[in-house]
Amino acid sequence: MELKNYMETIVLNYLDVVLEKYPNCCKCEQCRQDIVMLALNHLPPKYVSSDKGNVFTKLSLTELEKEVQVIEEIAKAIEVVSRSPRH
Ligand SMILES: [Zn+2]
Repeated sequence: MELKNYMETIVLNYLDVVLEKYPNCCKCEQCRQDIVMLALNHLPPKYVSSDKGNVFTKLSLTELEKEVQVIEEIAKAIEVVSRSPRH
């Protein structure tokens, strides 16, 4: 059994969608990683065992409210990284 932070999956799913709204933000590997890290630091982790595929589907349906929060945190992280990129 492998534990996985489902929140990471959600953040990665939304990263590109949110990045599209920030054409000036650098999209190199370092900056993308920093954005994901910053956003995850502000979001509650959701651990699931990855061998139960159906858990993912259930969570994504019941966590819709949190997804709004995820998008907000990604947007904030993009602004922070844009101000002082580490690359
Ligand atoms: Zn960069």
